[in-house]
Amino acid sequence: MTEATLAHPARLPSEIAPAIHYHVAMPQPESHLFEVTLHLKDWQLPLLDLKMPVWTPGSYLVREYAKHIQDFSAQAGEESLPWRKLSKNHWQIEFATDKTITVRYRVFAHELSVRTNHLDSTHGYFNGAALFFRIPGCEKQSIQVTIVPPQPKWQITTPLAALPEQPNTFQALDFDTLVDSFFEIGCHELHRFEVLDKSHELAIWGKGNANPVRIIADIEKIIQVEAQMFGGLPYDRYVFLLHLSTQGNGGLEHKYACSLNYSRFGFRAQDKYERFMQLVAHEFFHLWNVKRIRPKALEVFDYDQENYTPSLWFSEGTTSYYDLVIPLRAGIYDVKSFLNNLGKEITRLQTTPGRQVQPLSESSFDAWIKLYRPDANSGNSQISYYLKGEVVSLLLDLLIRRHRNGRSLDDVMLKMWQEFGQAEIGFTPEQLQEVIESVAGINLDDFFKRYVDGTEELPFNDYLEPFGLQLVSEEEEPVPCLGVRATTENGRELIKFVEAGTPASAAGIDAGDELLAIDDIRVTAQQLSDRLKDYQPGDTIQVTVFHQDELRTYPVTLVASQPSRYQVIPVEQPSPTQQQNFAGWLGVPLSNL
Ligand SMILES: [Zn+2]
Repeated sequence: MTEATLAHPARLPSEIAPAIHYHVAMPQPESHLFEVTLHLKDWQLPLLDLKMPVWTPGSYLVREYAKHIQDFSAQAGEESLPWRKLSKNHWQIEFATDKTITVRYRVFAHELSVRTNHLDSTHGYFNGAALFFRIPGCEKQSIQVTIVPPQPKWQITTPLAALPEQPNTFQALDFDTLVDSFFEIGCHELHRFEVLDKSHELAIWGKGNANPVRIIADIEKIIQVEAQMFGGLPYDRYVFLLHLSTQGNGGLEHKYACSLNYSRFGFRAQDKYERFMQLVAHEFFHLWNVKRIRPKALEVFDYDQENYTPSLWFSEGTTSYYDLVIPLRAGIYDVKSFLNNLGKEITRLQTTPGRQVQPLSESSFDAWIKLYRPDANSGNSQISYYLKGEVVSLLLDLLIRRHRNGRSLDDVMLKMWQEFGQAEIGFTPEQLQEVIESVAGINLDDFFKRYVDGTEELPFNDYLEPFGLQLVSEEEEPVPCLGVRATTENGRELIKFVEAGTPASAAGIDAGDELLAIDDIRVTAQQLSDRLKDYQPGDTIQVTVFHQDELRTYPVTLVASQPSRYQVIPVEQPSPTQQQNFAGWLGVPLSNL
């Protein structure tokens, strides 16, 4: 049954238009198994190919959703149909004379993240890509989905439109729309609100200290600011789904919704609440940037393999820059918090040695094998396209504002929306650069060569100074550099990262080593930095570790440390022009700092 005997899937004539209807039941939610039935009518070929996507748009990693499928079977009436597997995600069914076919399978759902499936006694959550088969050739067909909740009180929230007259049944216009839709089924809170005459919903699953009244008030402000940027809202209804979990922090954008996962008690402390609103601003911004304004490689999704693009720095990084700016414009935090957050982001970039190894465009291209698959060498060899893309977007915004009074990166976003997003035409890297250049009014070959396709250090102060700001490094008390980062895990002190080119790396200390002692006295991860302050650069210390269970002591000569913290602060005595530029950018006088 599972032998790969046929090499080529059946090809579907364009005039065939089968009716596709999925039923999703979950009679025993505690088993974590969704029971899926596909009913297909008017099928007219001797073979039926079914392919499970290997990834979902918005999360650039092959996740092998097919691995969760079990108990696959196919029937025509009462008769079982033979089937075989042709590849990891490809099932093929042989079909006789009947034109109606029923396929049954179960999907194990035990991973609570925005991009996977989760089913337990409290709720069911799934993503289209991780539950439904694609029928090659039928991607443009509409698809109906009927949900069978295990209890009548479980309600269903999805961005898909409900079909009137058919209970618990929803319709996707095509397979892309089905993939782009999640379902939340359970006893979640559901809040409805209107902004700019458009319907919005906030669904919250899980217990915690989220205050929906406050959250909705702030979401409304974010929607208003972003709608103003893009000249309106390109939808009639939008759904925010929030999962409250123990250590959650993630989001997945959709065209008509977003899925958010956040720490259940992350809403009282101001800094955590601000981070949550940044997450909301980020995922909502994506409804334009990446869901509709798409790189060429993502214009038509290939669900069978990686979709490579060098432009995720714009899709994700520029979105990250705006998730910093938009809460400021919305009045959710003030300019001090904004600059404080900006300083933290620049600190993360400048303390990642991989920024000098991997160009931004390459980081984007290799997302599939690198950013989502970190290892012991990631910090030394990679830079996140979110992080560097965010900071490069800051520089571009400042560059445009300096060269073209009254214009900004906002005009780039609007132009990208008008030229590519509205019609959903994919943009090439060259077209993106052309749009930025047309707004900036200058040639940017040199900028892109150095900072997007190259690894040159970003000249922050050249860009900040015209706005009355400067980047300074701050060290409370210098710590001589050993070159490791350590954490405590299950009572053991583990070295998680060894920076290339540092004394630790030269001595042979390795990521994964268990840290035991410095100069024969036990040291913990938490004490490490403090203990090093008792030494001077040039001192040699004895570092004792377990390396693959062998006890080793290494002599290590410490060196002077690199800055570990940066801040963006005002210059002394800003000129009237600097003050004017600052107010034009951030909307308040520089004297507010
Ligand atoms: Zn994003």
